[in-house]
Parts: sequence; structure tokens; C-alpha cells
Amino acid sequence: MAEAQSRQVVVIGGGQSGLATGYFLRRAGLDFEILDANWKPGGAWPSAWDSLHLFSPAQSSSLPGWPMPPVLGEGYPGRDHVAAYLAAYEERYRLPVRRPVRVEAVERAGDQLLVRTDAGSWTASAVVSATGGASRPFIPDYPGRVTFGGRQLHSSSYRSPQDLAGQRVLVVGGGNSGAQILAELSLVADATWVTPEPPTLLPDDVDGRVLFERATERIRAQQQGRDPGPPLGGLGDIVMVPPVSEARDRGALHSVRPFVRHDPRGVVWRDGSHCPVDAVIWCTGFRPALEHLAPLGVLEPDGRIAVQGAQCVREPRLWLVGYGDWTGVASATLAGVTRAARGAVQEIQEAAGAPPVSMA
Ligand code: FAD
Repeated sequence: MAEAQSRQVVVIGGGQSGLATGYFLRRAGLDFEILDANWKPGGAWPSAWDSLHLFSPAQSSSLPGWPMPPVLGEGYPGRDHVAAYLAAYEERYRLPVRRPVRVEAVERAGDQLLVRTDAGSWTASAVVSATGGASRPFIPDYPGRVTFGGRQLHSSSYRSPQDLAGQRVLVVGGGNSGAQILAELSLVADATWVTPEPPTLLPDDVDGRVLFERATERIRAQQQGRDPGPPLGGLGDIVMVPPVSEARDRGALHSVRPFVRHDPRGVVWRDGSHCPVDAVIWCTGFRPALEHLAPLGVLEPDGRIAVQGAQCVREPRLWLVGYGDWTGVASATLAGVTRAARGAVQEIQEAAGAPPVSMA
């Protein structure tokens, strides 16, 4: 077997979280490598649906160091704009991303961690996991789901409304992906939006930037011992990007509460009535992709990992970046990952006993 390569830090995942971490590792002067399972740059973005647009303008969706170039006109950046930005970011900072390399397991090996991959092994004093959730789409287990004879797809496999034109489609999920897919499908299909609760539609002038500012202010208040007050809308609430506000204006943004079960031809609602359905699109989110960390025995029953800051409590040579609020407020967003990545690298420096380098 080939000898393991040695680095001070190995980062697993080359999406926005891995790149932001790489930016700060470079600033800290640490020797590191980023291992990414994808064939091309951009993390999850290149595989998103065709019409996906961010819910924040470019200037509020930037990674550390280099602002995302603005889009022409007033619009929010689309999928390809974000993917191109991440590819250019990686180039610009000459980040050492190796792909495609899939990490299969992280194990303890003396005072190091051993990172086993499908392209050899690495040892490191510190490992940062930044694998997102795109490879683990979540579908809730409604009774009879396997008996349903129609088409089922998760939002991560949805590309465009055209191949569902004229069909009876249920869009399940009350977040922004459900709202955006419902908005375009309702133009060409008989689309019904199914959400557990009535979704919260944000005012037209509130976008991801405002939500991020509110989240930041709440953290600041908590840190200063002030009452942060009641939450004023979260990152899960529906942002009125133009296609969604247009759907609202034509009355298509109506939602109904969930059905009780599937049957082979459709679903049965709570009042016992049956509804024929051709396809169900599950806009029901993702779970953190952490299987490669299972050998370390750090996975909690809820599928997460206990962290202090970004550092794993049960394995202090492991850090986590970008999985959601539990690894740093808004860390699973473009604007929020900077703070999470900077914090993780500062902790790595501290753990290594290195003098702190300015990360401002
Ligand atoms: P990913 O982008 O998923 O990248 C993870 C990388 O890790 C991938 O390249 C993958 O191949 C690699 N990987 C995974 N497992 C392994 C392994 N075992 N070994 C090696 N590599 C591995 N955020 C915003 O800021 N604004 C928005 O408007 C916005 N809209 C969104 C809309 C949708 C529909 C979705 C799903 C998300 C949206 N987000 C938005 C959220 C967020 O920006 C993304 O989820 C983001 O892709 C997370 O980045 P990441 O780098 O953590 O993970």
C-alpha cells in the first residue's frame, strides 16, 4: 500500500465551506490540502435546478477576500453565476484542491488522524470536515410511499418544469426550495404545495441579506448579555424572489396541510378524500454528510456531532464547517460561512500552539 501523505491540515469537501476554510488556512500559513469528491468545482451548486437563484444579491453572497462579481441588471445571482464564482475563487487563491477524491473514513492513528480515500491516504494533525448535505437528500417516511406508482424525485434531482408539464404534481416542503419549484411548476402543471404549517412569506423588501443581518444582531446581543428579542423571521422563511412573488400575485402560492398516506395512484387527505397524483417532488431538505467520520465514534444519535465552537468535543483534532446553525449561525450560507471558517482556523491555530495570525 502506498505511504500516506502528510499535511498539517486536511479539509474534506471543496464546496464553499472548504474553500472559505482554505482561504483562512492559507492566511494562517498552514500546510493543507482540500480533498473533494466532485469532478468539477462549485460543490453542490452545479447540480441545482436550472432556474435556481440566490435569495441575496451578489455583494451579500461573498466568500472571504474576493466579492462575488455583480450580476447584470438588478437580479439575484443564478446557479451558474455562483458555480463560476466558486471555480474562479479557487483559482484566484490557488487553493490546493484535489479532485475527484472521495474520503471513505477518518480514523485515529497515534497523535494524528488518518484520512482514507479512494485515491490513497493522508495523515494530518487537524481535519476539517466540510462535506455539506447535498449527497444526503432527506425524504420523510409517509405511509405507503413505496406503494405509490407515480414518479418521485427529491429537489436535488429536479432540473426544470418541462418534463412535468400537464401533470398533477405535489410539491412537498415549506422552505425556499419548495416555494421556488412550486412557483415555476404552477405555470405548466397542476401543482399543489404541501407544507406542514402555513409557510411564512417574508415582506417583499426582506431578502437573505436582511435575514443574515438579523441573525448577526441576535448573536451580538446574546454575546453582550442583552435580550435578543423574539426572532423576526429566519433563514427558512420564504424570500420573495421575483418568480415567487409573481406566483403569489397570480394566487398560485397557496399551500395545503399534508396528506395522511400514499396509495398506488395518489394520496389520501386527512378528510379521507383521494387525490390522483402523477408525481411528487420532495423539497424536504438534506442531512449532514458525515458517514466518513463514523469510525471516530463521534456521531450522535441525531446524526450530528457535538461541537464547541467548530471543534468536535469527542475528537479534538476534528473541526466541522458549514453544516448549519449547529456549526455556526448561518454557516450553511455563502455570507455566513466566512465567520464559521475563520473561527475554525483560529481554533486550529490555538490547538497547534501557533501564534495567532490576524484574520480580519
Ligand atoms: P456543498 O456545496 O454540498 O459542498 C460539499 C463538497 O464536499 C462537495 O463538493 C462534495 O463533493 C464534497 N464531499 C462530500 N462528501 C465528501 C467525501 N466523503 N469526500 C470528499 N468530498 C466530499 N445559500 C445562500 O447563501 N444563499 C442562497 O440563496 C441559497 N440558496 C440555496 C438554495 C438551495 C435549493 C439549497 C439546497 C441551498 C441554498 N443555499 C443558499 C445554501 C448553501 O449555500 C448550500 O447548501 C451550500 O452548497 C453549502 O456549501 P458546502 O460547501 O457546505 O457544501
